[in-house]
Amino acid sequence: TTIQPADDGAVATAPAYLDPSLPVPERVADLLARMTVPEKVGQMLQLDARGDYEGDILRKHVGSILHTSPSRLKLAHDLVEQTRLRIPLLVGEDCIHGHSFFEGATIFPTQLGMASSWDPDLIEQAARVTAVEAAATGVHWTFSPVLCIARDLRWGRVDETFGEDPYLIGELASAMVRGYQGSGLADPTAILATAKHFAGYSETQGGRDASEADISRRKLRSWFLPPFERVAKEGCATFMLGYQSMDGVPITINDWLLNDVLRGEWGYTGTLITDWDNVGRMVWEQKIQPDHAHAAAAAVRAGNDMVMTTPQFFEGAQEAIEAGLLAEADLDRAVARILTLKFELGLFEDPRRPDAERATSLIGSAAHAAVNLDLARRSLVLLRNVDGTLPMAGAVDLPRRIAVVGPLADAAQAQLGDWAGSSGQADWLPDGHPRDMITTVLDGLRELTPQDWTVTSALGAEILSLVTPPEGETFPDGQPRPKVVVPRDPDEALIAQAVAQARDADYVVAVVGDQVELVGEGRSTATLELVGGQVALLDALAETGTPLVVVVMASKPLVLPQSALDAAAVVWTANPGMEGGRAIAELLLGQIEPSGRLPISFARHVGQQPIYYNQLRGQHGDRYADLTQEPAFVFGEGLSYTTVEYSGLELRSAELGQDDTIHARVTLTNTGARPARETVQVYVSDTVTSVSWTDKELKGYRQVDVAPGESVVVDLDLPVADCTIVDQAGNRVVEPGGFELLVGSSSRDADLLRAPFSVTGS
Ligand code: BGC
Repeated sequence: TTIQPADDGAVATAPAYLDPSLPVPERVADLLARMTVPEKVGQMLQLDARGDYEGDILRKHVGSILHTSPSRLKLAHDLVEQTRLRIPLLVGEDCIHGHSFFEGATIFPTQLGMASSWDPDLIEQAARVTAVEAAATGVHWTFSPVLCIARDLRWGRVDETFGEDPYLIGELASAMVRGYQGSGLADPTAILATAKHFAGYSETQGGRDASEADISRRKLRSWFLPPFERVAKEGCATFMLGYQSMDGVPITINDWLLNDVLRGEWGYTGTLITDWDNVGRMVWEQKIQPDHAHAAAAAVRAGNDMVMTTPQFFEGAQEAIEAGLLAEADLDRAVARILTLKFELGLFEDPRRPDAERATSLIGSAAHAAVNLDLARRSLVLLRNVDGTLPMAGAVDLPRRIAVVGPLADAAQAQLGDWAGSSGQADWLPDGHPRDMITTVLDGLRELTPQDWTVTSALGAEILSLVTPPEGETFPDGQPRPKVVVPRDPDEALIAQAVAQARDADYVVAVVGDQVELVGEGRSTATLELVGGQVALLDALAETGTPLVVVVMASKPLVLPQSALDAAAVVWTANPGMEGGRAIAELLLGQIEPSGRLPISFARHVGQQPIYYNQLRGQHGDRYADLTQEPAFVFGEGLSYTTVEYSGLELRSAELGQDDTIHARVTLTNTGARPARETVQVYVSDTVTSVSWTDKELKGYRQVDVAPGESVVVDLDLPVADCTIVDQAGNRVVEPGGFELLVGSSSRDADLLRAPFSVTGS
C-alpha cells in the first residue's frame, strides 16, 4: 500500500479502494463505506456534458457523462481531480456505426446496412475498429448495439436495427458486442457495449416513436427477448431500457421484465441504464409519478443502476430517502455495480483519458477504411437485374456514357445517415465529417470508370424543406422538436436536365432515397414513398428508354414506384457509410460481386404494415380486397451476378429425439459465369403447434463461395433443441411431431427446398 500525505500534513495510509492488488469486491465495499448519500446518488447519474459541467461534477458528483465534445473532456477529468473521493468518470457516447461524433472517425454503414451482409465476423471487426477509435479519444462506453426488431417500417429508427428476424439479430448483435468489448474490460481498447432498447420498444403503435407498445409477455418471449437473452449470456456489460410502456408500466419500473426475467431467469449481473430522462418522463410526460422523489424511488427500487439525463434525480432520490420512500441500502446495490465497472475497467489506476497520439495514428486510418469498404461492399443488395444490365462494364468493350442523377448521388453527409457527424445529436460538428473522407456514388463512378468513359451528373430532384413544428421549437423539457418535413414539388427544369443527360447516355444511374430529416427519434414517417420530386424524376427517366439503374439509398425499406420496380436494375443500400459510393461504383462496374441479402422485407404499399416474413398463421387468408399482402421484396432476398441452383436437400435421419442434431445436406450449383457468395438460409416449419405460430423461422445460415460452373455440397447442422415455439404458458419448448426443414436462398416459399422430419419424446 502506498503512503500519501493526508490533508493535515500527517502521513496516512492510502484508502483500500485505491489499492489495485485488492479484489474488486473489497475495493467496492471500502469505497461505498466512505460515500455520503449525495455522492451515491450522484454516482448513479449520467448527465449531458453540454450542460453545467462544473456543477454536475463538483456539486452533483455525477458518475458519468455523455455527449462530451473532445475539447471539453480534459476539463471533466480535471474537475474529477478536485472532488473528495476522485472517483473516475465513465464517459459514454453513442458510437453507433463508428465513432459517430468524432470528426474524421471511420463511419460504417448503419446497423441495417451491416445486417445486409449477414456476416458476423465482418461486423465484429467493424465494432472492434469503433472501439479502438473511441477508446483512443477517452470514451469508455458505447450505447450500441440496437436489438429491437423492426416490424413497422414507418418507425423512424428502423435504420438502427439489424432488421426483422430475431435469430439474425442475435447473431449479429453478439458479434458487435464481442467487437466492442474486445478481449475483456481490462483491455485498454475495450469499450462497454449496451444492448438496447430493452425490450419491445420497436413495437410502437402506428410506427410512432416511443408510444405505448401493445405487446404480451408471450409475444416478448417468442420474438423480442431472445436476442437480448443471447447477448446477456455472452456478457454484454450493460443494458439500456426502452422509452415505452407495456400494459401501462414503463420499462424503467417494469419489475417483471427487469427482475423476474433479466436478473432472475437469465441471471444477468451487468449494469442497467435508463434511456434519456426515462425517470423524469414518468413525471412530466407519462404522468404516472407525482414528483421526482417518487419517480426516483420507483426507478431505484426497480433495479436501475445509472439514470440518464434526469438532473432532478439528484434532489429527488435524496428527498425519497428523507421521506422513507427509499433506503440508502437501495442505492448501494446500484452504486456497487457502477463502481465495479469502473474498477474492472481499471479507471482508478488509469482513467483512460484521450490519447492524442493514439488518436492521430488510429482514427480514420487506412486499415480501418479497408474494413469499412469491405463491409460497405457486403452490405449492398441487388434486387433486380433484367437481362444482365449490370454490371455496366458488361459485354461490349466500348467507351460508355453514364448519367449519374438524383438528389443522393453526391450527398456526402446524407450518405452517412443518422448518428453521424451533423445528424443532429451533437452540436460540435455542424458541417459533419470531412468531405474528403466520404466517397459518394458520383465520386466512386468518376474514379473507377475507365478513362475514356464519360460520367455526367444532374440533381434531377429535391427531396424536402423543413418548417418549424406548429407545436413550437421545443418540447416541454427544452429538447428541440424535430422539424416538420414539407416535400418539394417536382421541378420541371431539374427533371429536364437529368432527362437530357439520360437520353445521351448508355446507362442512367438514379440515386434516390431518404435523408436524415426523415429518419430517427421522433421522425417516424406516415408514408414510405420516395419524398419530393423523386418519383416524377424516376418516371421521366424511365420514359427515355435508356437502361435505368436505380440505387435506392434509404435508411429503411421504402415503397418504390412502378418506374423503379420495372427498372433495368435496382440496388438497395442502407446508408452505406464513408466508403459507400466506392462500393456501389465497384458493384455497378462489376469489380465486386453482389452478395448482400435483405435483413428486412420491403412493402409494396405503406398500408401493408406490418409486412415481416414470420407472421402468425391466421384465418381468412392474408390479402386485402384491394391489395396483396405479398411484399415487394422478401426477407433474405438478394441477387448475384450469376445464378445458383439448390438441389438434393436430404436429411441423414428424418426421425429425431429432443437431444439430437439435424444433419442436412444440400447441393449448390453455380450455373452462371461469375462467382457467387451465397447465403444458404435454413428455416424450420413446425407442422402443427399447440398455439398459433409462424409458418417458418430462420434458425441458421451459412455463407458459401461457389465458383462459376462449380457444385458445392453444403452441410447444415441444427440442434433439435432450436426447433422451439413458445407455448401458452410462456415456456419455450420443442413440441414432438412433424416438422419441415426449409433450405434456400430467401424466405420466399418458391426459393426453398423442403425436407420433412419428426421429433419424438417429450
Ligand atoms: C436514444 C438512445 C441513445 C440516447 C443517448 C436516446 O434518446 O433512444 O438510443 O443512446 O438517447 O443519446
